[in-house]
Amino acid sequence: MLKILIGMSDTGGGHRSAAESLAAVIKQQRGDSVEVVVADLLSNHTFWPLNQVRHAYAPVVTRAPSLWKLSWWLPEATWRWKLLQRSFLPLLRGPLGGYLRAQHPDLYISVHPLLNHMPLRLLHAAGNYCPAATVVTDLGGGHPTWFCPDIDLITVGSQALYDLGLQRGVPRSRLRLLGLPVNPRFGAPGQDQASLRRALNLAEGRPTALVIGGGEGMGPLAEITRALAQALSAVGGQVAVICGRNEKLRAELAGQDWPLPVVVQGFVRNMSEWMAASDCVVTKAGPGTIIEACIVGRPIMLSDFIEGQETGNVTYVVENGIGAFSREPEEIGRIVRGWLTPGNAGLAAMSLRARAMARPHATTDITNALLNLVNRRTPRRDRRGPVPKKRPLRLT
Ligand code: UDP
Repeated sequence: MLKILIGMSDTGGGHRSAAESLAAVIKQQRGDSVEVVVADLLSNHTFWPLNQVRHAYAPVVTRAPSLWKLSWWLPEATWRWKLLQRSFLPLLRGPLGGYLRAQHPDLYISVHPLLNHMPLRLLHAAGNYCPAATVVTDLGGGHPTWFCPDIDLITVGSQALYDLGLQRGVPRSRLRLLGLPVNPRFGAPGQDQASLRRALNLAEGRPTALVIGGGEGMGPLAEITRALAQALSAVGGQVAVICGRNEKLRAELAGQDWPLPVVVQGFVRNMSEWMAASDCVVTKAGPGTIIEACIVGRPIMLSDFIEGQETGNVTYVVENGIGAFSREPEEIGRIVRGWLTPGNAGLAAMSLRARAMARPHATTDITNALLNLVNRRTPRRDRRGPVPKKRPLRLT
């Protein structure tokens, strides 16, 4: 049986969504002939402080921007990145190296910027030269560590990321612009809006704004929801707020009185249904959410972006005419009210443009490219060979 290991980490929600989407499509295509393991390698197979990145991500991004900038600056110069690897690799040899050796995959796929160079070195050190791929889950810009020139295939979702890959020394032959992986449930036919609204406890006839802050429920979602509640009262609207893993926000919003129906949720596993039930999406500039909204054809009101990897996503949305950007809750309220005013033709036009931008077949295209890597390799037992006790760790 073919064994595929997908390395991810729950920093935000996009990496897990991408990993699970790929796993679902690989299983659809290959059924029982393949075993797919999705593993949070950073949280479960590294050491302190690396294994805390998942918990530190949201606070660092929102409250310590200089620390966040440092995490970009450090690997930007190749010599600094090599120095970092040289310090971390020997320490990772036990926890991460041991796990990779035990899993012994036939194909390794990374969907996280920190899980490319080092897992590859550790696989090689364990004598496993299986094909390795990176599926970049950023859109308008990306962390420099996404691009390891020795990885067999790197898929990206935009020209900006393709160019960044070339700049980081990845040969053209290993880079492919295929789109971002999205769960096939998004945009699946048969999602009738009225019945979805009933199932999700939303009022059937009201124009609906869906508020999201990524997997962590980041940003001033409480202020935005209050501004939307005020603004949408005038058009008989309603608001659904998805707080993700931000339990504090969920409790705060759920305990309030609102001038119109407001449905508050924690982390949901059926985002495709929430999007299909709504008329527009209000979100930080997360690439996963943007692409999902495009596939469902929902205009996007961007309320914030993470400096660095999400800056380019704002340009992507605004310049392509599929939404707007503002950090001011009142302005967000005004813009969304304009969109949701009955008879506004602009909303339908944006929705059409969003659908046209979407690459609904991206996950299948990426999966085919990934499986091709194993198809064209020799059978596992021929390339496995004896596993040496200790191999040197080489850096590139
Ligand atoms: N998401 C989800 N349930 C939630 C909140 C978010 O499944 O309650 C998913 C969302 O559909 C998207 C991902 O988490 O696939 C968020 O990814 P994005 O790139 O937008 O932002 P991130 O959280 O990674 O910063």
